[in-house]
Amino acid sequence: MFSELQPSQRTIMTPGPVETDPRVLRAMSSPILGQFDPEFTAIMNDVMAMLRQLYRTENRWAFPVDGTSRSGIEAVLCSMIEPGDRVLVPIYGRFGYLLTEICERHGADVTTIECEWGEVFQQETIIQTIESLAPKIVALVHGETSTGRQQPLDQIGQACRKNGALFVVDAVATIGGTEMNVDEWQIDAVIGGTQKCLSVPSGLAPITYNERAEAVIQARKKVERGIATEDELSLNAGRPAIGSNYFDLSQLQDYWSERRLNHHTEATSMVYALYEGLRVVLQEGLEERFARHRYHEQALVAGLKGMGLTLYGSEEAKLPMVTCIEIPEGIDGESVRAMLLEQFGIEIASSFGPLKGKIWRIGTMGYSCRKENVLAVLSGLEAVLLYHGAAIESGRSVPEALNVYMQ
Ligand SMILES: *Cc1c(COP(=O)(O)O)cnc(C)c1O
Repeated sequence: MFSELQPSQRTIMTPGPVETDPRVLRAMSSPILGQFDPEFTAIMNDVMAMLRQLYRTENRWAFPVDGTSRSGIEAVLCSMIEPGDRVLVPIYGRFGYLLTEICERHGADVTTIECEWGEVFQQETIIQTIESLAPKIVALVHGETSTGRQQPLDQIGQACRKNGALFVVDAVATIGGTEMNVDEWQIDAVIGGTQKCLSVPSGLAPITYNERAEAVIQARKKVERGIATEDELSLNAGRPAIGSNYFDLSQLQDYWSERRLNHHTEATSMVYALYEGLRVVLQEGLEERFARHRYHEQALVAGLKGMGLTLYGSEEAKLPMVTCIEIPEGIDGESVRAMLLEQFGIEIASSFGPLKGKIWRIGTMGYSCRKENVLAVLSGLEAVLLYHGAAIESGRSVPEALNVYMQ
């Protein structure tokens, strides 16, 4: 016998998945509609319209790919890359390696440039590499959750256009939490995530791309025999098809267009969740939401510094929704995290690769980014650190955060 599912109520202060707005959870329990029911296709159209507002774009194509955020990354890259295409990936953390890996799996000739973890690139460095390398695609992470840094990229799209490259951005961590001006920054394709600042469960990857990206994708279009017209079957004869059916954006966009050409069965309840999640975001207002993320970040940072803890990474390039803390000398980071979870029901994150065992990461994303959560994580962390015998300032943390809140 298996017991009824009764997950605990947690305070989730990680870089995702984060707590979900109760409105989103309620939307997910709505009745299922058929995938071609006009009521459902109207919801799909509204999701597209709201995604355009979120991304600040006039792009025709703005829709979710079914799967976690990396499904959107894979869909964009595998639909654009033909074997042998030159791709530039500037890497400043773990997710830059993910972009590289996906590009390589699809046969790209990848060039990487790297900067030290905890730092970001000068845009000029990336632009010079674009000029000398002349890649077909530049793929870049906007917010590196692994290091808690944000790469400025407002100049890079323009340089890509001048040099005939397409600009692809992983904005999984930043969308809905900080500025992402797709059209203004001349980004050709962007991938967002649901389980981070949008506070919708993991399972969809909202993407948008413009006509430049679409032209590259359509040049490889193949339509499935059995649903295609005779004319469509001869499309792009002799040219290799996109190497994935599930992630073929030329087919996915037909499904999200007025044609409703059958592809997969849309993930009904997840589309409800995204619909309600986007409504929550747009009702709050993008600028207000970005300001809220910065406000709680300020209180969290004040509290951590009040405790005498050292923040990791360049201050100038800090990602507002992820705060990385150096684990004090002699303290077992995993033991602290376990005690926070068991005794306080609070989850913070560990880290990857070269940072493993060296830093904790605290997320302040979406619905989790609230005053009571910030105060709870500060008081819990202080108590647990004292219990572990860490040499921290006692009793200074919460008052420092309150100074921010009570101004
Ligand atoms: C979380 C994250 C991803 C991966 O998302 P999944 O939903 O786990 O596939 C990719 N890129 C960045 C920058 C992320 O923060």
